[in-house]
Amino acid sequence: MQFKRPYIISGPCSAETEEQVIQTAQRLAATGKINLFRAGIWKPRSRPGQFEGIGIKGLPWLQQAKKITGLPIAVEVATANQVEQALQHDIDVLWIGARTTVNPFSVQEVANALQGVSIPVFIKNPINPDLELWIGALERVTKAGIKNIGLIHRGFSAYGNIQYRNAPMWHLAIEMKRRNPDLLFICDPSHICGRRDLLQSVAQKSIDLDYDGLMIESHINPDKALSDAKQQITPEKLNDLLNNIIWRNENIESEFYKTNLEKYRQQINHLDDELIDILAQRMKVAEQIGQFKKDNNITILQTNRWNEILEKIFEKGEQLGLSKEFLSQYFDAVHMESINHQNKIMNK
Ligand code: PEP
Ligand code: MN
Repeated sequence: MQFKRPYIISGPCSAETEEQVIQTAQRLAATGKINLFRAGIWKPRSRPGQFEGIGIKGLPWLQQAKKITGLPIAVEVATANQVEQALQHDIDVLWIGARTTVNPFSVQEVANALQGVSIPVFIKNPINPDLELWIGALERVTKAGIKNIGLIHRGFSAYGNIQYRNAPMWHLAIEMKRRNPDLLFICDPSHICGRRDLLQSVAQKSIDLDYDGLMIESHINPDKALSDAKQQITPEKLNDLLNNIIWRNENIESEFYKTNLEKYRQQINHLDDELIDILAQRMKVAEQIGQFKKDNNITILQTNRWNEILEKIFEKGEQLGLSKEFLSQYFDAVHMESINHQNKIMNK
């Protein structure tokens, strides 16, 4: 199977009914922009009692969708049994979900079931921001003899994160891509955003960062979806989204330097964006501390605490090649801003 760029994967979070699967596939195929049809058959849910997927009953629906539209089909697998079922039903591509990538036992079980099988496998990043786990899963699947491997960036759980369902942490994905320049690298804005209104900008960011394609969930009736209702869009909305993407120029000889520079600049922009988000989060915490100090009549400045923070920062900074002079100026400014935020709360 050849992956042409941009490689677009779409389909419902979950297969729910035969009609829903086939209609979604038909309406996606009508856009002429889809390379792979996805649907979750077995759904790993954080809490019990939610819709856990239709199970093997749904696999023939996917086969039918393939027959009608000609689109190859993909499902998520987490156990050896699921791999076997998927292979028996002519599934073209398998993917390992984020909740599976975190568990080396599960990844190994899937890898063992794939021994001697020739099928493309996509590996989602683990839910926690740990590159080693992602790389470990890649190694296990590679050792099983799978040649055609793709990586899917779907963001990372971050406690207290407000804007996204799963924080993109672009720097981690960029590092994974840098280490595996030959693998297909796909962004999944649906699971990063968790909501429709952010999909376009996250999809654009990933394309600007030179990703090879996108996985975006679509449903014929998103609000009524049995899983991930808030993030799914209709096939027609997906078509609009794809039409609105600015596909950056591919490298051409004369533009070689410009294009490379642009890539670095985009990385800087994204990192700066994250810096601002993190600083804003820090100030929110400072305000909560301000409230606590006000309620308990404590002074804002606690010199010992500030010395302790600075010591830690200098130690870590030294290991990472950041000068003490820079860190001291930078954190003085951060500290002052933090004091101002606390002050505002205390003297409100
Ligand atoms: C999914 O693709 O529907 C899914 C469960 O995603 P993730 O593994 O990224 O949570
Ligand atoms: Mn989903």
